[in-house]
Amino acid sequence: MSSRSIPATHAEALYHTTYGGLPDGVWSSPGRVNLIGEHTDYTGGLVLPFAIDDRAVVAAGRIDEPVVRIVSSQRPGGIIEIPIRQLRPGSAAATGWPAYPAGAVWAVGDAGAPVSGLQLALDSAVPVGAGLSSSAAVECAVALAAAELAGSEMFDGPTGLQQLARVAQRAENEFVGVPCGLMDQMASAAGQAGNLLFFDVGAGTIEQVPFDPTAVGLTLLVIDTRAHHSLADGEYARRRASCERATAVLGLTSLREIDDLDAALAVLAVEQDGAVLTKRVRHVVTENARVEAVVAFLRDGEMSSIAADLTASHRSLQHDFEVSSIELDLAVDAALDAGALGARMTGGGFGGSAIALVDTADAAEITRAVEHAFLDAALDAPVSRSYSPSAGARRDT
Ligand code: ADP
Ligand code: MG
Repeated sequence: MSSRSIPATHAEALYHTTYGGLPDGVWSSPGRVNLIGEHTDYTGGLVLPFAIDDRAVVAAGRIDEPVVRIVSSQRPGGIIEIPIRQLRPGSAAATGWPAYPAGAVWAVGDAGAPVSGLQLALDSAVPVGAGLSSSAAVECAVALAAAELAGSEMFDGPTGLQQLARVAQRAENEFVGVPCGLMDQMASAAGQAGNLLFFDVGAGTIEQVPFDPTAVGLTLLVIDTRAHHSLADGEYARRRASCERATAVLGLTSLREIDDLDAALAVLAVEQDGAVLTKRVRHVVTENARVEAVVAFLRDGEMSSIAADLTASHRSLQHDFEVSSIELDLAVDAALDAGALGARMTGGGFGGSAIALVDTADAAEITRAVEHAFLDAALDAPVSRSYSPSAGARRDT
């Protein structure tokens, strides 16, 4: 038990009222916004997300019994209890939302930490299904807590947070059963305040790229359409399957190896499913090029020049990768019509959030214009916010 006696966070208070006593510590990890590089992570491509200042917080304590107990402020309904010996992929003991934190504990144990009994109290400010990666925030916070409470140093050192991302991704891929790429967990684990995370998934390298739009009179609006993605799972898997098939048809190991796009598209076009494969591959290859262009503009201090690439990314996701939605297109088009410099959907698509780069002086008017467009279309008003790049996974107390 901690030496402190007053719960300082909602997660600690939840821990206290649920289990009694105080936790051994509090850990947290953020959601993320992806500036550009969408649906490129699972083909070894380039992504450019940043960690946001909405975080998943977990208060965690070790116990002597061989069970993991979990509660969440966002999922009222009592304590979920899972015997440690049943903590494995495919187990009926952890399905639905508890699979995310339970999967994180499993993945830490599977990576070699001697995980014992745990009590977890979760409280997250990251909205679920808004395209801001509430799932990775939960996984990274819980995995870091479980490892540190097991006395493991697996997430210490200069590449520790990258290792955390990989372990958290295994929780989602193998335990929850969602075939996500590595972007969300890497942004949540290894994001840094004031920076975008330029992650070359194929090469396994990350670079921090300073990003402060407000310093140059710009604002990055994040527009949550509140049409939350739920149909996404099957479509996401289909997009992955198309990319894998195109890779195989081209005789490559990764779509990153394409250096002549037109030649690759000509090969794909004659396949029975060529119409779909060419569109998917054109998105991935042009999106990787847009990420490189945006990084170059940012390094040259030309923030407003990234806007055209943001909008081009949206059109590619809308028409070629076909993962946008009526609400996302409306948010992007209404923002652009009202004077946004550039705009795109962010996250996996089929709902969730869009981003718009705007002159700060126009931010309020563009926000209102987007709201009116939704009301005119008889849709619930979206919620717009501006996030600053924030810190990744950490121990808070
Ligand atoms: P997102 O884009 O927000 O990551 P996902 O579908 O990938 O959407 O993950 C959302 C799921 O993560 C939720 O349905 C729930 O199972 C789990 N989750 C996220 N936040 C919480 C929380 N605070 N408490 C419990 N479960 C959560
Ligand atoms: Mg997710």
